[in-house]
Amino acid sequence: MQLNDGHAPEAGGDTVRSEPVSTDAPQRLWFDGELHEAGKLQATLGTHALHYGSGVFEGIRAYATRDGAAVFRLPEHLARMRKGCELLGMDFDIAQATEAVLATLCANRLGDAYVRPLAWYGDGGFGLDVTGRSHHLMVATSATNLHLNGNRARVSVSRWRRNPASSLPPLKLCGAYVNSILAKRETRARGFDEAMFVDDNNYVVECTGANLFFVRDGAITAVEHPDALPGITRDTLIRLTGADSRPVSMEELLDADEVFACGTAAEVAPIAEIDGRRFDAESPLSREIAAVYAATVRGESSWSGRWLTRV
Ligand code: PMP
Repeated sequence: MQLNDGHAPEAGGDTVRSEPVSTDAPQRLWFDGELHEAGKLQATLGTHALHYGSGVFEGIRAYATRDGAAVFRLPEHLARMRKGCELLGMDFDIAQATEAVLATLCANRLGDAYVRPLAWYGDGGFGLDVTGRSHHLMVATSATNLHLNGNRARVSVSRWRRNPASSLPPLKLCGAYVNSILAKRETRARGFDEAMFVDDNNYVVECTGANLFFVRDGAITAVEHPDALPGITRDTLIRLTGADSRPVSMEELLDADEVFACGTAAEVAPIAEIDGRRFDAESPLSREIAAVYAATVRGESSWSGRWLTRV
């Protein structure tokens, strides 16, 4: 297989490590325009989002690169967040959110980091009408470890259906994630690591927090489904590999040589089995794709420049 980015990392390709993060320093968090000590902030118990899930979040990653920390595909993450905010009637200023993300990473002196912006409706009564209600924005960060996806997941098809897009559009709306929590709980209770959703026609949707790809006879396919979140990692991998994006039945997925999940947090995560059907333990193509993805997010591929925002 020829990946679109077959380039080896540029010369001097030492493994990039994040700078050591002092665990003593109190973490800072950006809230409504200012940085604060994270532990000193509290939300009131009447917070609307706490009762009804009326919030929108993102999951973003920053990476330590040779030229310092950089955020991967920040504009795309914030554009998706704005869509969710618009749907819920919250103002969302991408320029301000960009500043907030960069300022929080800078304040916490992080290299490899997970970044969590959250916009939500605050206090002001229990009604469902959010017109005129106050809303807030925060950005929290946490240090991530390298190579989170060393363990190949054992996956099971959930008995729950994915929120249909006609009821809840596939955006990162807080309340929508109760659906993922139910699926995860149910499959974990049956001894699996992760859940995946299929629809009523036995077409594959996605996992609880990641999209799915498969490899068959050297060809890479991205699972497409209207109820699945249009993942930014998925889009990245389609561009890097030239993968075909189309609807995939469960039958076809189970016939694959390799299956992997992908997402900002998961990165490229080969799947060991789905309900007892085991896939190639070596997962050679998935590993190759994971390596190209890793080089790209760390600024070492020809694709990196357009997708990294320096901190
Ligand atoms: N599906 C769901 C339900 C998710 O929560 C995520 C993580 N954001 C993904 C897919 C992958 O999306 P992305 O690659 O943009 O992180």
